[in-house]
Amino acid sequence: MWTRNTNNSKQQGSGDSTQQKTTNSLSVPTALNWHCEAVCNYDCTFCYAPFEDQRKRSRLTSEEGCNVIENLGRAGIEKINFVGGEPMLHPHIQDWIRHSKKVGMTTSIVSNGTRMNGQFLSDMVGHLDWLGLSIDASSDELHAMMGRGLKGEIRQGYSDHLNRTKSIVQKARQLGFGIKLNTVVTSVNVDDDMSDLVRWINPNRWKIFQVLPIEGENDHMPREFLIDSSQFSEYVERHKMALSDVPEVEVVGENNDQMLGTYAMMDAQTLVYTNMNGHYEYSTQPVLDIGFSKAWEQVNHGFSNSQFQQRGGQWDWNRKTPISLPMVQGGDE
Ligand code: SF4
Repeated sequence: MWTRNTNNSKQQGSGDSTQQKTTNSLSVPTALNWHCEAVCNYDCTFCYAPFEDQRKRSRLTSEEGCNVIENLGRAGIEKINFVGGEPMLHPHIQDWIRHSKKVGMTTSIVSNGTRMNGQFLSDMVGHLDWLGLSIDASSDELHAMMGRGLKGEIRQGYSDHLNRTKSIVQKARQLGFGIKLNTVVTSVNVDDDMSDLVRWINPNRWKIFQVLPIEGENDHMPREFLIDSSQFSEYVERHKMALSDVPEVEVVGENNDQMLGTYAMMDAQTLVYTNMNGHYEYSTQPVLDIGFSKAWEQVNHGFSNSQFQQRGGQWDWNRKTPISLPMVQGGDE
């Protein structure tokens, strides 16, 4: 019978300092981003998840993925976030969302929205808790300048991203999903005003990221895309002020320092990895073969639980979850 390892909660809050960020011996995450699909149909210039090598490898079977999910649950992962590439391109994404919920996890997906039709959303009611959409700008002219659009669109100099994602928001709201909005801020959109759009979307959480250079992943990105931390802060504070009358929208800014070493990630081949030093450091063996705990030991030095807490990683992801299945035995949310 499936049971959850609860040791993890005892390890949280053990209090590593910034210095310990590079030396802590055991920081086990409660949330995991599974980059389950390496391929993407978008062309974002700043993308730090292109996974060129992984695209050549075969995908996991549905059963393999479900076995990994069960192992993650036993290891203490409470929230799983399916990301990519574009996770909606994976043929087994629905199986894995369902299975994650079945073993008691909070489930989330971050998508560019291209395949997120009404049928998918209806099918996911009761299985998917949080729907995350990546929208970087208030206009598709800006999206086109950032490459945020289908590859064919971008090649032709336009993007229809905003139209697509707005129709998904409407459907998702009708069905009662929690909505997260993700925005990457670069020099292209740093002066944009997103407040009217955010007000319309009315997400539970708006996560704003400073564009992040990752060695070996987005080296192709023009350096002019980068912004400094003060430009980023100005963007975040300006929008916090503009949205102060809608306190139900939680606005969270994450600069480069806050992003490094605070994400536990697993790739499409189930290697776990971290990014503390500005590049990805991978386990040498996949979770599929050795289980999450052993794989995590290999990269644990690249993760800081206290920094994870400080950036709000342990946000109350159950708080506004309107739809979920009854928990199976072992679920502790
Ligand atoms: S949608 Fe996401 S994974 Fe795809 S290119 Fe854009 S940032 Fe990268």
